[in-house]
Amino acid sequence: MPELPEVTVISEDVAALAKEREVLKAAVFRPDVTNVEPEEFSRRLVGRTLRGTGRRGKIIVLDFGDVVGLVHLVISGRVLRLPKWKEPDRMNTAVLEFGGEGEPVVLAFTRLWLGYFDLYEPGEEDAHPLISRLGPDPFSEDFTVEHLASALERKASVKGLLLDQSVVAGLGNIYVDEVLFASGVHPTRKGGTLTREEIQKVHAATRDILGRAIELRGTTFDSYHDAFGETGKYQHQLKVFTRAGEPCLTCGTQIVKSRVAGRGTYTCPSCQPL
Ligand SMILES: [Zn+2]
Repeated sequence: MPELPEVTVISEDVAALAKEREVLKAAVFRPDVTNVEPEEFSRRLVGRTLRGTGRRGKIIVLDFGDVVGLVHLVISGRVLRLPKWKEPDRMNTAVLEFGGEGEPVVLAFTRLWLGYFDLYEPGEEDAHPLISRLGPDPFSEDFTVEHLASALERKASVKGLLLDQSVVAGLGNIYVDEVLFASGVHPTRKGGTLTREEIQKVHAATRDILGRAIELRGTTFDSYHDAFGETGKYQHQLKVFTRAGEPCLTCGTQIVKSRVAGRGTYTCPSCQPL
C-alpha cells in the first residue's frame, strides 16, 4: 500500500506528465469508484485544466480549478501512463486523457477496487471523512515534538498510534517500523511511556526517513511503481522491514517478526528493548 513517500512521488509524476493540460476524456469503470455518477465524472472533468497536484496524508489531490479530485490508491493501486486512450476496465479503473502540445497523455488510475477517485468542489474536500480527521503532515510546521508528545500520551502501543492518521498523516506499516527502529523504541511500548528524548528521536526519524524515501522514489515490494513505470529504490535502505531472521545491521542480533496493532512488525530485540 502506498504510504506518504510513494503517494508524493506519484502525485509529482502526475504533475510532470499532465500539469497545465486540458482533460479531453474522463471515464470510470464502475460507479462505486467515485462519489458521482459516471456521466457526471466525465462531464465535470472534461474541458478542465489540471492546475497542479498535491497530497493530503496518503491521498492524491488533483486541482482542476473548479473541481478537486481525490484519489486514494489502496493495496496495489497505481497511476500508469497508457500509450493511447483505452476505455476503463477492471484493471484501469479510471482513465483520463489530457490534450496539449505533442502526444496526448493518457493516465490510468488502476485497481481502485478498494480505493476511489472522488470529485469535490474546492474546499469541500476538507469535509471528506479521511481528510477531516487527518493529523499534521510530517513536513508541516504543525508537526512539532509537542504535538507528537501530546498525541502519544495514551495507553495504546506506539506503533498503533503512529499508524493512526489523526496522530500524523501519511505513515503506514513499512515506515513506522523503520522509524521505531531508528529511534530505538519497541513498537509494543505504550505511547505514554516514551521519554522526551525518545519522542524527539521519533519526530526526527519520521522526517528523515520519509524525506530519504521520497528522494529514492519510494519503496517497491511487489506492485508499487511510479507513474513512469519505474520501481522505487528505498527497499534497499530498509533496516528491519521484511528482514526477519537476518542480522540487525547495527548490532548483529536477529531481526524478529511479530504482530503489533494487527500488522506484521519487524524489530531488533537488542536495539529496541522492551
Ligand atoms: Zn540491533
